[in-house]
Amino acid sequence: MKQSTLFMPTLREVPAEAEAASHRLMLRAGLIRPLAAGIYSYLPLGRKVLRRVEELIRREMEAAGAQEVLLPAMQPAELWRESGRYGVYGPELVRLTDRHGREFALGPTHEEVITTLVRDEISSYRRLPMTLYQIQTKFRDERRPRFGLLRGREFLMKDAYSFDADWEGLDRSYRRMEAAYHRIMQGCGLRYRAVEADSGSIGGEGGTHEFMALCAVGEDTIVSCTACDYAANLEKAEAAWTPPEAPQGEVPVPDAERWHTPGVRTIAELTEKLGEEAGLLLKTLIYLADGQPAAVVVRGLHEVNEAKVRAALGADVLELADAETTQRVTGARVGLAGPVGLQVPLLVDREAAALAEGITGANEADWHLRHVVPGRDFPLERVGDYRNVRGDDACPRCGGGLEQHRGIEVGHVFKLGTKYSAKLGAVFTDETGVERPMIMGCYGIGVSRILSAVVEQHHDEQGIVWPEGLAPFDAHLIPLGQEGPAAELADRLYAELRSRGAEMLLDDRAERPGVKFKDADLIGLPVRIVIGRDAAEGFVEYKERRSGETFKLTAEEAAARVL
Ligand code: ATP
Ligand code: MG
Ligand code: MG
Ligand code: MG
Repeated sequence: MKQSTLFMPTLREVPAEAEAASHRLMLRAGLIRPLAAGIYSYLPLGRKVLRRVEELIRREMEAAGAQEVLLPAMQPAELWRESGRYGVYGPELVRLTDRHGREFALGPTHEEVITTLVRDEISSYRRLPMTLYQIQTKFRDERRPRFGLLRGREFLMKDAYSFDADWEGLDRSYRRMEAAYHRIMQGCGLRYRAVEADSGSIGGEGGTHEFMALCAVGEDTIVSCTACDYAANLEKAEAAWTPPEAPQGEVPVPDAERWHTPGVRTIAELTEKLGEEAGLLLKTLIYLADGQPAAVVVRGLHEVNEAKVRAALGADVLELADAETTQRVTGARVGLAGPVGLQVPLLVDREAAALAEGITGANEADWHLRHVVPGRDFPLERVGDYRNVRGDDACPRCGGGLEQHRGIEVGHVFKLGTKYSAKLGAVFTDETGVERPMIMGCYGIGVSRILSAVVEQHHDEQGIVWPEGLAPFDAHLIPLGQEGPAAELADRLYAELRSRGAEMLLDDRAERPGVKFKDADLIGLPVRIVIGRDAAEGFVEYKERRSGETFKLTAEEAAARVL
């Protein structure tokens, strides 16, 4: 591809709306452009990387014996009522009505569709096991789409579904998929952990593992053992968590008169209002903050508890711009506690509230609950406060030490069991002629989310550093000058490498070298070959993007290294 004709609008400026490094870089390198919140167009470079990820996934799915299908995005609401999820799924489900008044949903996931498809076509144990997969656009009206492709409202997912005659069969299908997932994660160059998790709204009777890419902007907190291979999503580890010794008995909220949470003067009162979990966390937090927090940000009230929190505290829950402002204004420490989920600044210093009113212009009565996000509202080191809370934990499996990471869920494998097959009547006849529900598993990968996770892990100050298998091109050829020996040698290398199967990008633009180098670093191809002064003698400069190492090579040597 010649860069002069490539649709690759790079940006010098850092787009203001982008909080995560991956989001900024993907906009700057011209991979994606937003259309609406959480909805993106993929430009040629972005599409190419997406295709590479898709190809890797397809290869592993086929190797694991899964067959590709493509299921409809538009799904009758009736089907979702049959499975019992139409009501439960909530506002994340994109609903629409056709011209005849029939209700539909845009698929956020495809258990219903695949289960009815298999139900209608397969009736004998002889046709089982079977695993089907698709790579398809999913729609979820996320409450907070953000971080570019990390949490979109329209995104690309690979979802696979296994159908087995018995639980042993499901075990085998599940393990095959799990193994494929490990290969996919490795193929994408991701640092990740496979963790035990809870099954959430998809539900099911068996186990479930999440594949978590380790990134500071990750919305999940995971713990892993330093001695054995135990790793879990914090929600899951919570069960095994015993908090550190916290003060006993009636602990007053420190400096109670300064706090604006009417009716609450002691932790016990707060516990009563919010429930055991929040009370415990606050107690621990205030203890750790030496009794001097200026604002307490409680994470750990899971989304399901939001309604409870609102109902319990009502107008008492104040928002003080955000945690960072709280800190700036009060000059005091802001605490952070709790696992993933809702983050609510609960207690706000009266003076700080008055100051904040001056800054934000918001009257107390207008403040709403607002979600505070580490990394955006809050320097990430602050998460360290929380780490202390759990610093003494021991691994529930071997008693070893646990360490914490922030993670992005890039994959998820579930043992569904008969949850959907029983509801939707996906039964088969076994060897003895008895009808039984199929035993199912489901396996998702966030294909578009992987792009962001990879960039999040593989970048530097200058731009993206693509892992080899995912780069949109194999190498970047940069002639200095548009005619003469440099341009001629570049053209020759370009033609030769392409004819031998390499995907090349040739920067044939009439730009200054500095501009070309900046763009090259930004889009991050693994190899950059600069053809300049030494071209007449047949020499080029070969540079590895990742290490920054530079070699003076003959054109032939450089070509051989690319191939
Ligand atoms: P999350 O916990 O991040 O909301 P999820 O548990 O709701 O994800 P699943 O239902 O398990 O997601 O879907 C399978 C995969 O699809 C996830 O592991 C993730 O990689 C991807 N995914 C889910 N939601 C999104 C989204 N809004 N944008 C991009 N990818 C997503
Ligand atoms: Mg979700
Ligand atoms: Mg999840
Ligand atoms: Mg999940």
